[in-house]
Amino acid sequence: MKQELATYALARRVCEACERLRPVKDYTMRKIRTVFGTVAVKNPRWMVCQRCFPHFSMAFTVLGEICPDRATPELMELTARLGSMLPYRKAAELLAEFLPIEPTESHQTARKRTLTLGARLEDQSLRQERESPPLACERTQLELGMTNDPLREFVVSIDTAHIRSADQKMARDFEIVVARCGRGGRGMPPGHYFATSNTSQREMRARTLQALQFEGYSGNYHLDIVGR
Ligand SMILES: [Zn+2]
Repeated sequence: MKQELATYALARRVCEACERLRPVKDYTMRKIRTVFGTVAVKNPRWMVCQRCFPHFSMAFTVLGEICPDRATPELMELTARLGSMLPYRKAAELLAEFLPIEPTESHQTARKRTLTLGARLEDQSLRQERESPPLACERTQLELGMTNDPLREFVVSIDTAHIRSADQKMARDFEIVVARCGRGGRGMPPGHYFATSNTSQREMRARTLQALQFEGYSGNYHLDIVGR
């Protein structure tokens, strides 16, 4: 993790305009909670580029950009998952039982993390909704009255493909989901294709629903991904 953060901080030290390194203001230490205990990491402050902005002497930190919670995303998620299923006090006890975490982490920590992540998830889904507002073609579904109209049917085909890396040393193999979503059966236009490298049920469900909505499906429930 130290390396990851140091790499990120270094990448952010490069001035986007002239591609040279920004000067260092100072280094402080910052404690980050992880599932393996607390880790102290260097928290550098970079100055704004003196070549591009010679009259400014502002400094900024960058660790907060990728680690905004002073806890790793893994620990945040674990705490939030437990916090959403159990009373916060119980969740905190469980974490303390199994993980080498600080004694200062109480049920209030569990509560705070759960609510923080919950709010973030809600923001995210609101943003997604805003970015893909209901489409005009959603109305089409409501207008289709004939029972034997093949366009009444939505057809979704989902398959997974294993992608082999051309160079085994350079990259890992990975799996992607490829899918097609259209209306009507054989002989009808193929509809939309989509692919995702996130093969979790949750992601597949979200992407399928998105594709269905694009095709004019107006419900948003009773969609189960079966077989994974
Ligand atoms: Zn510059």
